[in-house]
Amino acid sequence: MKILVINCGSSSCKFQLFETSTGEVLAKGNAERIGIDGKLTYKANGKEDFISTEAMPDHKVAVKMILAALVDKDHGVLSDISEIKAVGHRVLHGGKYYSESVIVNDDVKKVIRDCFPLGPLHNPANLTGIEACESVLPEGTPQVAVFDTAFHMTMPPKAYTYALPYELTEKYSIRRYGFHGTSHRYVSRRAADFLGKKYEDIKIITCHLGNGSSFAAVDHGKCVDTSMGLTPLAGICMGTRCGDIDPAIVPFLMKNENLTPDEIDTLMNKKSGVEGLSGVSSDFRDLDKASKEGNERATLALEMFEYQARKIIGAYAAAMGGVDVIVFTAGIGENTDYIRAAACEGLGFMGVEIDPAKNNGVRTEAVISSDNSKVTVAIIPTNEELAIAQETEELVK
Ligand code: ADP
Repeated sequence: MKILVINCGSSSCKFQLFETSTGEVLAKGNAERIGIDGKLTYKANGKEDFISTEAMPDHKVAVKMILAALVDKDHGVLSDISEIKAVGHRVLHGGKYYSESVIVNDDVKKVIRDCFPLGPLHNPANLTGIEACESVLPEGTPQVAVFDTAFHMTMPPKAYTYALPYELTEKYSIRRYGFHGTSHRYVSRRAADFLGKKYEDIKIITCHLGNGSSFAAVDHGKCVDTSMGLTPLAGICMGTRCGDIDPAIVPFLMKNENLTPDEIDTLMNKKSGVEGLSGVSSDFRDLDKASKEGNERATLALEMFEYQARKIIGAYAAAMGGVDVIVFTAGIGENTDYIRAAACEGLGFMGVEIDPAKNNGVRTEAVISSDNSKVTVAIIPTNEELAIAQETEELVK
């Protein structure tokens, strides 16, 4: 089935067209600078790359241009737009309402709109993308919303509630939601398949380590805890996000540095994390290089990242009363053997033992724990777009 996957930002619209029977990406690209001027980059298998700088005043025009590129006689991959059987949209926030992906209708759009305050940068753009597709694609083409938060909705109240005045948590829907859910679901399921185990029989800890990093405890197929919270700022320190800090630091800095709520938000989201700590970069390749050259702050940033990852793995094993499988995924999880090794260092007491010969230099789907390790540790590359296409297909079939 041909499924178009859309990931809309406030001024961009990334897309991938999948043939789900093979998992092949037929075409992909990005419409950028929407509402500014407009730039569409487009790549398709066996065709010449294509760039257009035609004006894109809004998302509707952007979607029209993407569809036109897909059926273009020179670089297109479809003979008619009706070959697209459904569109899967990445949506950041589904609030507490959706624990699964859903076919979009008026109620779903209302929930996405109601969640604007929880995802102020993403949800409005995601809804704009859905409405643009609805207005441009043939009538009746199903649109599916795949929420970043949905996988985590099985958490029990003790895992998602914050100890603030209860009335306020209710009034503002303040709770742990968690993010990267599509990735945690995809890699945890794939890990069970890959290892020949039944998903519903095992305890898995998934470590999605990328520019943003999050962890999930998946107990017998259900997420029971995750490290991101009301927003994707919580958890371990990340590229530019501070992760968990003493909350009292927030008013302290606001008072002493005379910062507004928006300024402290920017400081914690964009100027902190391993970049803020090291003064070098948010990219682990740069940090590794700087650390090897003797930059102590880069070394500290790497050590903190590894230490915090290890603590979460230990905490989630405790939360589930054990762990059978630990999965590493995303940019850092898939590419950095030394972070994987360090995050599992010292966990021999709970049966985790990495085999350096299996871990070093490996970047593909693989088991990296030793034959004697009680816990299986694996690399499972994530593919959020394919996961969205597959979930969309399951719903519309
Ligand atoms: P996101 O999707 O959140 O933007 P990714 O999962 O693509 O992030 O991860 C990006 C991060 O992964 C980069 O910032 C970098 O730190 C790390 N990374 C990617 N490739 C490598 C590599 N080959 N070696 C080390 N780190 C890498």
